[in-house]
Amino acid sequence: MSAASARDGSGRGRGISRSIESPAARAPQASAVRAALLDWYDREARDLPWRVSPLARRQGVQPDPYAVWLSEVMLQQTTTVHAAPYFRTFMARWPTVSALAAAADGELMAAWAGLGYYARARNLLACARAVVERHGGVFPGTEAQLLALPGVGPYTAAAVAAIAFDEATNVVDGNVERVVSRLFAVQTPLPAAKPRLRALAADLIGDERPGDWAQALMDLGAGVCTPRSPQCGRCPLDFACLAFEAGRAAAFPFRAPKSARPLRRGLVLTLVSSGEVGLVRRPPRGLLGGMMGLPTSPWSAGDPDLAWLDASPGAKRPCGLIRHVFTHFELELRVFRADLDARPAIDAQWTPRHEAQKILPSVFRKALDAAMGGPDLSSGGAGASGNRSEGL
Ligand code: SF4
Repeated sequence: MSAASARDGSGRGRGISRSIESPAARAPQASAVRAALLDWYDREARDLPWRVSPLARRQGVQPDPYAVWLSEVMLQQTTTVHAAPYFRTFMARWPTVSALAAAADGELMAAWAGLGYYARARNLLACARAVVERHGGVFPGTEAQLLALPGVGPYTAAAVAAIAFDEATNVVDGNVERVVSRLFAVQTPLPAAKPRLRALAADLIGDERPGDWAQALMDLGAGVCTPRSPQCGRCPLDFACLAFEAGRAAAFPFRAPKSARPLRRGLVLTLVSSGEVGLVRRPPRGLLGGMMGLPTSPWSAGDPDLAWLDASPGAKRPCGLIRHVFTHFELELRVFRADLDARPAIDAQWTPRHEAQKILPSVFRKALDAAMGGPDLSSGGAGASGNRSEGL
Protein backbone atom coordinates (compact mmCIF):
# COMPACT_ATOMS: atom_id res chain seq x y z
CA MET A 1 0.00 0.00 0.00
CA SER A 2 1.34 3.42 -0.92
CA ALA A 3 2.15 6.15 1.55
CA ALA A 4 -0.45 8.31 -0.14
CA SER A 5 -3.18 5.77 0.34
CA ALA A 6 -2.18 5.40 3.95
CA ARG A 7 -2.27 9.14 4.50
CA ASP A 8 -5.73 9.63 2.99
CA GLY A 9 -7.32 7.10 5.28
CA SER A 10 -7.48 4.25 2.81
CA GLY A 11 -4.56 2.37 4.25
CA ARG A 12 -2.72 1.77 7.49
CA GLY A 13 -1.27 4.71 9.34
CA ARG A 14 1.90 5.16 11.29
CA GLY A 15 2.53 3.33 14.52
CA ILE A 16 0.13 4.23 17.30
CA SER A 17 -0.97 2.86 20.59
CA ARG A 18 -3.50 0.15 19.79
CA SER A 19 -4.71 0.29 23.35
CA ILE A 20 -6.01 3.85 23.42
CA GLU A 21 -9.25 2.60 24.96
CA SER A 22 -7.47 0.89 27.82
CA PRO A 23 -7.44 2.97 31.03
CA ALA A 24 -3.66 2.71 31.41
CA ALA A 25 -2.97 4.13 27.98
CA ARG A 26 -5.73 6.68 27.82
CA ALA A 27 -4.35 9.48 30.01
CA PRO A 28 -1.03 10.09 28.24
CA GLN A 29 -2.67 9.54 24.86
CA ALA A 30 -5.40 12.07 25.70
CA SER A 31 -2.87 14.72 26.59
CA ALA A 32 -0.98 14.09 23.34
CA VAL A 33 -4.25 14.33 21.38
CA ARG A 34 -5.14 17.57 23.15
CA ALA A 35 -1.76 19.16 22.50
CA ALA A 36 -1.77 18.14 18.83
CA LEU A 37 -5.28 19.40 18.18
CA LEU A 38 -4.79 22.71 19.98
CA ASP A 39 -1.54 23.32 18.06
CA TRP A 40 -3.39 22.63 14.84
CA TYR A 41 -6.22 24.95 15.89
CA ASP A 42 -3.74 27.74 16.56
CA ARG A 43 -2.61 27.45 12.95
CA GLU A 44 -5.81 26.47 11.16
CA ALA A 45 -8.79 27.86 13.09
CA ARG A 46 -11.60 28.92 10.77
CA ASP A 47 -12.33 32.62 10.57
CA LEU A 48 -16.00 32.79 11.59
CA PRO A 49 -17.99 35.96 12.26
CA TRP A 50 -18.93 34.86 15.78
CA ARG A 51 -15.53 33.51 16.72
CA VAL A 52 -12.68 35.03 18.75
CA SER A 53 -9.52 33.64 17.17
CA PRO A 54 -7.09 31.69 19.36
CA LEU A 55 -4.56 34.52 19.02
CA ALA A 56 -7.06 37.19 20.04
CA ARG A 57 -8.18 34.97 22.89
CA ARG A 58 -4.63 34.70 24.16
CA GLN A 59 -4.40 38.48 23.96
CA GLY A 60 -7.34 38.72 26.33
CA VAL A 61 -10.30 39.23 23.98
CA GLN A 62 -13.38 37.63 25.53
CA PRO A 63 -16.12 36.12 23.36
CA ASP A 64 -19.54 37.79 23.54
CA PRO A 65 -21.83 35.14 25.11
CA TYR A 66 -24.80 36.55 23.18
CA ALA A 67 -22.98 36.11 19.86
CA VAL A 68 -21.85 32.61 20.83
CA TRP A 69 -25.35 31.57 21.87
CA LEU A 70 -26.95 33.08 18.75
CA SER A 71 -24.50 31.34 16.44
CA GLU A 72 -24.92 27.99 18.19
CA VAL A 73 -28.69 28.13 17.85
CA MET A 74 -28.39 29.00 14.16
CA LEU A 75 -25.83 26.28 13.53
CA GLN A 76 -27.93 23.52 14.98
CA GLN A 77 -29.70 22.96 11.68
CA THR A 78 -27.53 24.51 9.03
CA THR A 79 -23.97 25.13 7.86
CA THR A 80 -21.62 27.95 8.82
CA VAL A 81 -21.80 29.30 5.26
CA HIS A 82 -25.59 29.45 5.31
CA ALA A 83 -25.77 30.81 8.87
CA ALA A 84 -23.12 33.56 8.52
CA PRO A 85 -25.24 36.17 6.67
CA TYR A 86 -28.15 35.56 9.05
CA PHE A 87 -25.81 35.98 11.99
CA ARG A 88 -24.51 39.30 10.64
CA THR A 89 -28.05 40.54 9.99
CA PHE A 90 -29.20 39.58 13.49
CA MET A 91 -26.17 41.19 15.15
CA ALA A 92 -26.65 44.42 13.16
CA ARG A 93 -30.36 44.55 13.93
CA TRP A 94 -30.31 43.23 17.49
CA PRO A 95 -26.75 43.77 18.80
CA THR A 96 -27.51 42.65 22.36
CA VAL A 97 -29.67 40.04 24.01
CA SER A 98 -31.80 42.86 25.45
CA ALA A 99 -32.42 44.24 21.96
CA LEU A 100 -33.41 40.79 20.75
CA ALA A 101 -35.71 40.29 23.73
CA ALA A 102 -37.57 43.46 22.73
CA ALA A 103 -38.14 42.31 19.14
CA ALA A 104 -41.70 41.61 18.02
CA ASP A 105 -42.39 37.91 17.46
CA GLY A 106 -43.41 38.38 13.82
CA GLU A 107 -40.35 40.53 13.09
CA LEU A 108 -38.00 37.86 14.40
CA MET A 109 -39.85 35.05 12.63
CA ALA A 110 -39.52 36.95 9.33
CA ALA A 111 -35.79 37.47 9.88
CA TRP A 112 -35.40 33.75 10.66
CA ALA A 113 -37.18 32.65 7.45
CA GLY A 114 -34.87 30.37 5.48
CA LEU A 115 -32.93 29.12 8.50
CA GLY A 116 -35.36 26.28 9.07
CA TYR A 117 -36.39 24.63 12.31
CA TYR A 118 -38.70 27.45 13.34
CA ALA A 119 -39.24 26.19 16.86
CA ARG A 120 -35.68 27.44 17.44
CA ALA A 121 -36.71 30.98 16.50
CA ARG A 122 -39.51 30.87 19.05
CA ASN A 123 -37.14 29.46 21.65
CA LEU A 124 -34.59 32.13 20.77
CA LEU A 125 -37.03 34.83 21.78
CA ALA A 126 -38.14 32.99 24.90
CA CYS A 127 -34.52 32.55 25.97
CA ALA A 128 -33.56 36.18 25.27
CA ARG A 129 -36.51 37.37 27.33
CA ALA A 130 -35.59 35.01 30.18
CA VAL A 131 -31.99 36.30 30.18
CA VAL A 132 -33.35 39.84 30.51
CA GLU A 133 -35.98 39.00 33.12
CA ARG A 134 -33.99 36.57 35.26
CA HIS A 135 -30.41 37.77 34.77
CA GLY A 136 -30.72 41.47 33.96
CA GLY A 137 -29.65 40.98 30.33
CA VAL A 138 -26.38 39.20 31.21
CA PHE A 139 -25.94 35.58 30.14
CA PRO A 140 -25.30 33.30 33.12
CA GLY A 141 -21.82 31.81 33.03
CA THR A 142 -22.16 28.11 33.80
CA GLU A 143 -23.49 25.11 31.91
CA ALA A 144 -26.02 24.37 34.64
CA GLN A 145 -27.41 27.92 34.64
CA LEU A 146 -27.56 28.02 30.86
CA LEU A 147 -29.42 24.73 30.82
CA ALA A 148 -32.11 26.25 33.00
CA LEU A 149 -32.97 28.82 30.30
CA PRO A 150 -35.95 28.07 28.03
CA GLY A 151 -35.04 26.40 24.75
CA VAL A 152 -31.42 25.78 25.75
CA GLY A 153 -30.66 22.08 25.46
CA PRO A 154 -27.64 20.15 26.72
CA TYR A 155 -25.59 20.73 23.56
CA THR A 156 -26.13 24.51 23.45
CA ALA A 157 -25.53 24.88 27.19
CA ALA A 158 -22.26 22.94 26.93
CA ALA A 159 -21.12 24.83 23.83
CA VAL A 160 -21.87 28.30 25.18
CA ALA A 161 -20.32 27.48 28.58
CA ALA A 162 -17.14 26.22 26.90
CA ILE A 163 -16.75 28.83 24.16
CA ALA A 164 -17.97 31.92 26.00
CA PHE A 165 -16.88 31.07 29.55
CA ASP A 166 -14.08 28.52 29.13
CA GLU A 167 -15.83 25.92 31.24
CA ALA A 168 -14.50 22.40 30.61
CA THR A 169 -17.78 20.97 29.33
CA ASN A 170 -18.31 18.02 27.01
CA VAL A 171 -19.54 19.52 23.72
CA VAL A 172 -20.73 16.61 21.57
CA ASP A 173 -22.58 17.00 18.30
CA GLY A 174 -22.62 14.86 15.15
CA ASN A 175 -19.19 16.13 14.07
CA VAL A 176 -17.61 15.27 17.39
CA GLU A 177 -19.30 11.87 17.46
CA ARG A 178 -17.79 11.13 14.08
CA VAL A 179 -14.27 12.19 15.08
CA VAL A 180 -14.39 10.23 18.33
CA SER A 181 -15.88 7.13 16.71
CA ARG A 182 -12.92 7.13 14.31
CA LEU A 183 -10.26 7.92 16.87
CA PHE A 184 -11.38 4.97 18.96
CA ALA A 185 -12.77 2.82 16.09
CA VAL A 186 -16.05 2.38 17.98
CA GLN A 187 -17.92 -0.45 16.31
CA THR A 188 -21.26 -0.09 18.05
CA PRO A 189 -23.60 1.56 15.54
CA LEU A 190 -25.26 4.90 16.15
CA PRO A 191 -27.52 5.79 17.83
CA ALA A 192 -26.76 3.08 20.41
CA ALA A 193 -23.11 4.24 20.50
CA LYS A 194 -23.96 7.74 21.68
CA PRO A 195 -23.33 7.23 25.42
CA ARG A 196 -20.02 5.50 24.66
CA LEU A 197 -18.92 8.27 22.30
CA ARG A 198 -19.88 10.90 24.83
CA ALA A 199 -17.83 9.14 27.51
CA LEU A 200 -14.82 8.85 25.21
CA ALA A 201 -15.12 12.54 24.27
CA ALA A 202 -15.22 13.42 27.96
CA ASP A 203 -11.98 11.50 28.51
CA LEU A 204 -10.22 13.80 26.05
CA ILE A 205 -11.15 17.06 27.78
CA GLY A 206 -8.54 18.86 29.82
CA ASP A 207 -8.47 22.05 31.86
CA GLU A 208 -6.33 23.91 29.36
CA ARG A 209 -8.27 26.14 26.91
CA PRO A 210 -11.63 24.30 27.03
CA GLY A 211 -13.27 26.83 24.70
CA ASP A 212 -10.59 26.43 22.05
CA TRP A 213 -10.66 22.65 22.48
CA ALA A 214 -14.40 22.54 21.76
CA GLN A 215 -13.99 24.73 18.70
CA ALA A 216 -10.95 22.82 17.48
CA LEU A 217 -12.92 19.56 17.55
CA MET A 218 -15.75 21.24 15.66
CA ASP A 219 -13.32 22.55 13.03
CA LEU A 220 -11.66 19.17 12.66
CA GLY A 221 -15.02 17.46 12.14
CA ALA A 222 -16.24 20.12 9.72
CA GLY A 223 -13.13 20.47 7.55
CA VAL A 224 -10.83 17.45 7.91
CA CYS A 225 -12.59 14.49 9.47
CA THR A 226 -15.54 14.89 7.12
CA PRO A 227 -18.30 12.30 6.73
CA ARG A 228 -17.47 10.76 3.34
CA SER A 229 -13.86 11.72 2.60
CA PRO A 230 -11.82 12.19 5.76
CA GLN A 231 -8.57 13.91 4.88
CA CYS A 232 -6.32 11.93 7.16
CA GLY A 233 -3.28 13.31 5.34
CA ARG A 234 -4.05 16.73 6.83
CA CYS A 235 -5.14 15.49 10.22
CA PRO A 236 -3.20 16.37 13.35
CA LEU A 237 -4.63 13.30 15.11
CA ASP A 238 -3.58 10.61 12.63
CA PHE A 239 -0.97 9.36 15.11
CA ALA A 240 -3.74 8.43 17.55
CA CYS A 241 -6.52 7.33 15.24
CA LEU A 242 -7.51 3.67 15.24
CA ALA A 243 -9.82 3.97 12.22
CA PHE A 244 -6.95 5.48 10.23
CA GLU A 245 -4.62 2.79 11.42
CA ALA A 246 -7.09 0.17 10.25
CA GLY A 247 -7.45 1.90 6.87
CA ARG A 248 -11.19 2.25 7.42
CA ALA A 249 -11.61 5.90 8.36
CA ALA A 250 -14.64 6.55 6.14
CA ALA A 251 -16.45 3.46 7.46
CA PHE A 252 -16.95 5.10 10.87
CA PRO A 253 -19.26 5.87 12.56
CA PHE A 254 -21.26 2.70 12.06
CA ARG A 255 -24.97 3.34 11.81
CA ALA A 256 -28.09 1.27 12.32
CA PRO A 257 -30.14 1.10 9.09
CA LYS A 258 -32.39 4.13 8.69
CA SER A 259 -36.13 3.86 8.30
CA ALA A 260 -37.50 5.84 5.36
CA ARG A 261 -39.16 9.19 6.09
CA PRO A 262 -42.96 8.90 5.95
CA LEU A 263 -44.75 10.81 3.19
CA ARG A 264 -47.51 13.33 3.91
CA ARG A 265 -49.70 14.96 1.32
CA GLY A 266 -51.72 18.15 1.14
CA LEU A 267 -52.99 21.05 -0.94
CA VAL A 268 -51.67 24.60 -1.01
CA LEU A 269 -53.42 27.61 -2.47
CA THR A 270 -51.93 30.85 -3.77
CA LEU A 271 -54.54 33.60 -3.75
CA VAL A 272 -53.65 36.50 -6.03
CA SER A 273 -55.45 39.84 -5.97
CA SER A 274 -54.36 43.16 -7.48
CA GLY A 275 -50.81 41.86 -7.89
CA GLU A 276 -50.54 40.79 -4.23
CA VAL A 277 -50.50 37.37 -2.62
CA GLY A 278 -52.67 36.37 0.34
CA LEU A 279 -50.50 35.17 3.22
CA VAL A 280 -51.81 33.67 6.45
CA ARG A 281 -50.10 33.36 9.79
CA ARG A 282 -49.73 29.78 10.96
CA PRO A 283 -50.83 28.78 14.46
CA PRO A 284 -48.19 29.62 17.09
CA ARG A 285 -47.52 25.98 18.03
CA GLY A 286 -46.53 23.10 15.81
CA LEU A 287 -45.01 22.88 12.38
CA LEU A 288 -43.63 26.24 11.16
CA GLY A 289 -45.54 27.75 14.09
CA GLY A 290 -45.95 31.53 14.03
CA MET A 291 -44.52 31.85 10.49
CA MET A 292 -46.35 33.37 7.56
CA GLY A 293 -47.53 30.81 5.01
CA LEU A 294 -49.90 30.15 2.15
CA PRO A 295 -53.31 28.65 2.91
CA THR A 296 -53.03 24.86 3.02
CA SER A 297 -55.19 21.86 3.73
CA PRO A 298 -54.17 19.52 6.57
CA TRP A 299 -51.10 17.39 5.72
CA SER A 300 -51.65 13.69 6.21
CA ALA A 301 -50.62 10.26 4.99
CA GLY A 302 -53.90 9.81 3.13
CA ASP A 303 -55.33 11.56 0.08
CA PRO A 304 -55.52 15.36 0.27
CA ASP A 305 -58.76 16.90 1.47
CA LEU A 306 -60.41 18.20 -1.71
CA ALA A 307 -63.37 19.55 0.28
CA TRP A 308 -60.93 22.07 1.77
CA LEU A 309 -60.13 23.29 -1.72
CA ASP A 310 -63.80 23.55 -2.66
CA ALA A 311 -64.47 25.65 0.43
CA SER A 312 -61.59 28.03 -0.34
CA PRO A 313 -62.27 31.23 -2.30
CA GLY A 314 -61.92 31.70 -6.05
CA ALA A 315 -61.76 29.56 -9.17
CA LYS A 316 -58.73 27.33 -8.68
CA ARG A 317 -56.38 26.08 -11.33
CA PRO A 318 -53.72 23.42 -10.72
CA CYS A 319 -50.06 24.48 -10.93
CA GLY A 320 -48.26 21.19 -10.36
CA LEU A 321 -46.72 19.37 -7.44
CA ILE A 322 -43.89 20.27 -5.08
CA ARG A 323 -42.00 18.11 -2.63
CA HIS A 324 -40.23 19.26 0.48
CA VAL A 325 -38.18 17.37 3.04
CA PHE A 326 -38.74 18.10 6.71
CA THR A 327 -36.75 16.51 9.50
CA HIS A 328 -39.27 13.80 10.23
CA PHE A 329 -41.28 13.46 7.04
CA GLU A 330 -41.46 14.28 3.38
CA LEU A 331 -44.25 16.51 2.13
CA GLU A 332 -45.96 16.43 -1.25
CA LEU A 333 -48.20 19.41 -1.97
CA ARG A 334 -50.50 19.88 -4.92
CA VAL A 335 -50.30 23.56 -5.79
CA PHE A 336 -53.33 25.63 -6.86
CA ARG A 337 -53.76 29.26 -7.75
CA ALA A 338 -56.84 31.47 -7.71
CA ASP A 339 -56.88 34.95 -9.26
CA LEU A 340 -59.48 37.03 -7.48
CA ASP A 341 -61.34 40.14 -8.63
CA ALA A 342 -62.36 40.99 -5.07
CA ARG A 343 -60.56 40.14 -1.86
CA PRO A 344 -62.41 37.50 0.16
CA ALA A 345 -63.33 37.93 3.81
CA ILE A 346 -60.47 35.87 5.19
CA ASP A 347 -57.76 36.83 7.66
CA ALA A 348 -54.98 37.27 5.09
CA GLN A 349 -52.07 39.65 4.81
CA TRP A 350 -51.96 40.84 1.19
CA THR A 351 -48.32 41.13 0.25
CA PRO A 352 -46.39 41.93 -2.96
CA ARG A 353 -44.75 38.81 -4.29
CA HIS A 354 -41.18 40.00 -3.83
CA GLU A 355 -41.94 40.73 -0.16
CA ALA A 356 -43.69 37.39 0.30
CA GLN A 357 -40.61 35.70 -1.10
CA LYS A 358 -38.52 37.19 1.71
CA ILE A 359 -40.67 36.16 4.64
CA LEU A 360 -42.05 32.76 3.61
CA PRO A 361 -40.37 29.54 4.78
CA SER A 362 -38.81 27.47 2.00
CA VAL A 363 -41.74 25.10 1.51
CA PHE A 364 -44.11 28.00 0.80
CA ARG A 365 -41.58 29.83 -1.37
CA LYS A 366 -41.41 26.67 -3.43
CA ALA A 367 -45.22 26.56 -3.69
CA LEU A 368 -45.35 30.25 -4.58
CA ASP A 369 -42.79 29.73 -7.35
CA ALA A 370 -44.88 26.89 -8.75
CA ALA A 371 -48.07 28.97 -8.65
CA MET A 372 -46.44 31.99 -10.29
CA GLY A 373 -44.71 30.01 -13.03
CA GLY A 374 -41.15 30.22 -11.67
CA PRO A 375 -38.92 32.02 -9.17
CA ASP A 376 -39.14 35.80 -8.76
CA LEU A 377 -35.71 36.79 -9.99
CA SER A 378 -36.49 40.53 -9.65
CA SER A 379 -36.33 40.28 -5.84
CA GLY A 380 -32.70 39.26 -5.94
CA GLY A 381 -33.55 36.05 -4.10
CA ALA A 382 -32.60 32.62 -5.31
CA GLY A 383 -36.19 31.37 -5.17
CA ALA A 384 -37.02 28.37 -3.08
CA SER A 385 -34.05 26.67 -1.57
CA GLY A 386 -34.19 23.29 -3.25
CA ASN A 387 -35.01 20.36 -1.02
CA ARG A 388 -32.91 21.28 2.00
CA SER A 389 -34.21 19.43 5.01
CA GLU A 390 -36.19 21.73 7.27
CA GLY A 391 -37.03 21.27 10.90
CA LEU A 392 -40.32 21.60 12.68
S1 SF4 B 1 -9.48 11.69 13.10
FE1 SF4 B 1 -10.53 11.54 11.14
S2 SF4 B 1 -9.28 12.69 9.69
FE2 SF4 B 1 -8.04 12.31 11.52
S3 SF4 B 1 -6.89 10.45 11.04
FE3 SF4 B 1 -8.76 9.83 12.13
S4 SF4 B 1 -10.26 9.42 10.51
FE4 SF4 B 1 -8.57 10.56 9.59
